Amino acid sequence: MSLAVLYSRALNGLAAPLVTVEVHLANGLPSFALVGLPEAEVKESRDRVRAALQTAGFELPPRRITVNLAPADLPKESGRFDLAIAIGILVASGQLKVSRLEQYEFAGELALTGALRPIRGALAMSLATHQAERQFILPTENAAEAALVQDARILPADNLLAVCAHLAELEKLVPYQGTPATVEQSYLDLMDIKGQGQAKRALEIAAAGQHSLLFVGPPGTGKSMLAQRLPGLLPPMRDEEALESAMVQSLGSGGWRSQAWKQRPYRNPHHTASGVALVGGGSDPRPGEISLAHHGVLFLDELPEFDRKVLEVLREPLEAGKITISRAARQADFPARFQLIAAMNPCPCGYFGHPSAQCRCTPDQVSRYRGKLSGPFLDRIDLMMEVPSVPPEQLASMPHGERSDTVRQRVIQAFEVQQQRQSKPNSRLSAPDIEQYCQPDEAGQALLTQATRSLNLSARAYHRILKVARTIADLACRPSVTAADVAEAIQFRRGL
Ligand SMILES: [Zn+2]
Repeated sequence: MSLAVLYSRALNGLAAPLVTVEVHLANGLPSFALVGLPEAEVKESRDRVRAALQTAGFELPPRRITVNLAPADLPKESGRFDLAIAIGILVASGQLKVSRLEQYEFAGELALTGALRPIRGALAMSLATHQAERQFILPTENAAEAALVQDARILPADNLLAVCAHLAELEKLVPYQGTPATVEQSYLDLMDIKGQGQAKRALEIAAAGQHSLLFVGPPGTGKSMLAQRLPGLLPPMRDEEALESAMVQSLGSGGWRSQAWKQRPYRNPHHTASGVALVGGGSDPRPGEISLAHHGVLFLDELPEFDRKVLEVLREPLEAGKITISRAARQADFPARFQLIAAMNPCPCGYFGHPSAQCRCTPDQVSRYRGKLSGPFLDRIDLMMEVPSVPPEQLASMPHGERSDTVRQRVIQAFEVQQQRQSKPNSRLSAPDIEQYCQPDEAGQALLTQATRSLNLSARAYHRILKVARTIADLACRPSVTAADVAEAIQFRRGL
């Protein structure tokens, strides 16, 4: 009996657990069995490997071939193992002589022509391969992504023959050397929006403390335009943030794009999106919109139109920064540290409180509409901002306001103050943290006590006001939280 053992990787959340690909050849009637893959995938994989070997001028040995993928209970998509299986057959049958096969890991789907097709999650696999101190042979199209892992040894190949030539030491694969180009930041500018000074102020505070924000206002007031400009106000991505974000993108259906490197993601799923599309899932669990927005912005327009059950699921990631997807016996964690920005109309028709247009809703309809959002969900919103409708004749004479770059400088400065003081943004302060870092001065405390009573604030709302007040003080470079900071923070809770 002849045996070859090769390494590859499965995917499980952001992890890429090792998969051992064992190829046995034995005497007996010719057959080709694959153990460890879902039934439906086995035939396809066999067909691809057989065709690719033949096209490349090799033969499928007329023996009893058994391929075993271990461990057996890992989630596996078949395509990624094609290359390892094909090489394993060649090595076990003596058609390819390789020394030190164990220094490599393989991934890639084979086309019938022997060409290598890109795979999902190359970055997560690359990280794991690098930690295992092996070299990674993979499809050329995945090389740039895999090479985001510093010092990883990436050997890109176009087809099966190129991999064979490398292993036989006839013609070496050229290690990938490129570093990701720093793409010109292409965020939308705040200056494009005329007027709406108060809403822009809310956006700046939200950016500085990474607070969640809800815009309420009639259609056409620029709520979406404002939300789209939040990524451009946030501090530049740190390297580890960029890498995590790229890893999640690489696992999603759209894959990783080099243009997205170091850009804060901005995701705005439609309210008709399924629960799986939003939070992730599927038989081979994939990240949803909330994870694709990791280290970036998740914008939910027309918030009350979203499935209430889905919104309730968002409570966990909003607190913990991650989501656990359970399916049958399997469980996968995806990071989901997104900044939530949401928008809604004030009523079903949209014109409640509008200066000129007439609202057609009954008071009952208005309260039912607002009631679609649960108290516990709204309790997780830090800032609420009414975005008023501005008549066109007034809008013409309104100023453009500041550029995003100018606002961003203040945000970065406030952000650094928070990092130095507590190593996290104000939005993530715990109750004891708030006690320690957000205590207002005497006048501020008096104001807060009075507001708690008159507005009947929950304990959670009370804490949120203090966190927002802390951010307002940080933006103004004030070491202590004053009554003015508290007063402004309370303004952002009216109506919540
Ligand atoms: Zn209405």
